[in-house]
Amino acid sequence: MLGSGSDNLHMRSGAGRLIEEALADLWQGVVLWDYPLSRLSTLKVGGPAKAVVFPGNAGELLKLIKGCKQIGIQWRVMGRGSNILVADQGVAGVVIVLGPDFSAIETVNESPETVLVRVNAGCSLAKLVSWSERQALSGLEFAAGIPGSIGGALVMNAGAWGSEISNVTTSITLLEQDGQIYERDRAALPFVYRSWGAPVGTIALNGTFRLVRGERVRIAGACREVLRQRREKQPLDLASAGSFFKNPVTMPAGRLIEEAGLKGCRIGNAMVSDKHANFIVNVGGATADEIKALMRLVQEKVFVRSGILLEPEVHIWDE
Ligand SMILES: Cc1cc2nc3c(=O)[nH]c(=O)nc-3n(C[C@H](O)[C@H](O)[C@H](O)COP(=O)(O)OP(=O)(O)OC[C@H]3O[C@@H](n4cnc5c(N)ncnc54)[C@H](O)[C@@H]3O)c2cc1C
Repeated sequence: MLGSGSDNLHMRSGAGRLIEEALADLWQGVVLWDYPLSRLSTLKVGGPAKAVVFPGNAGELLKLIKGCKQIGIQWRVMGRGSNILVADQGVAGVVIVLGPDFSAIETVNESPETVLVRVNAGCSLAKLVSWSERQALSGLEFAAGIPGSIGGALVMNAGAWGSEISNVTTSITLLEQDGQIYERDRAALPFVYRSWGAPVGTIALNGTFRLVRGERVRIAGACREVLRQRREKQPLDLASAGSFFKNPVTMPAGRLIEEAGLKGCRIGNAMVSDKHANFIVNVGGATADEIKALMRLVQEKVFVRSGILLEPEVHIWDE
């Protein structure tokens, strides 16, 4: 559906206005109304968002955020939906998807040894990994096979095999809640394990990464090996959000879950993978409630056995 527009949000805002009218005033691009988020999430569960929109640049995004604020519509940002669990009843307001239209990769500085690359938040990590491989740039081999967008990878501080995206990040351009756009150096960003530590509501517009010149054959080989290990260890044939729980410092979550005897444990169509115990998989037609019930069961059983309370890595989108 296409909206139609006016920029005069002050004049048009007011109590009781329908979200359709309000949004049509500030967004002329494609709007998916009452769109099931199960179609945008790799767990393949979740009810509808009132509206889903796909801005193509920072200006459009800024206009949307400011407009939503002025007319009192809630909004959330999504990348590729590979680390979210959306409630069955869906979410209120507008879901703003930073996708392929927002995905430029640009070299901003080079030296004989390194290259600084700025990448828009909607670019998929897979696209950046294969671009780096083609350019013979090393640093992102660990990320081969991690689904999702650059924005999602920064927010989640995505990582594997002992490396994290924050290791190669030099700065991030942020859209703050007040509508200001800032570039923040890596040193000013409080990255921790699986989080960038920025205040809720902050949006990553792009990230700049320092990659090191290397040998293309070696980089390609390292990526292939990472992908092989993922295929061997992870249930990639079933819908999931990857590792469901964060790894506690003392022991990997998968081992704790396996030792609690939960591999293959099932509630409805949600199951603890029998291939990798830290994956909760949707074997087909699961609901978010089933996944949440299984999540709680895993937390209870693991706590009783080990005294450790597992914390979800997956972001839960509830009302
Ligand atoms: C099969 C599989 C394997 C996986 N393996 C790994 C792994 O090895 N390591 C790992 O770390 N993760 C892994 N994941 C989890 C997931 O792929 C990563 O966390 C990924 O970085 C999420 O990116 P996304 O774009 O899909 O984020 P989304 O799921 O869309 O969003 C995640 C969160 O980030 C927020 N967000 C997204 N983009 C922005 C933005 N631009 N600005 C502000 N907030 C934003 C969302 O609001 C949400 O809260 C795996 C997932 C799957 C399905």
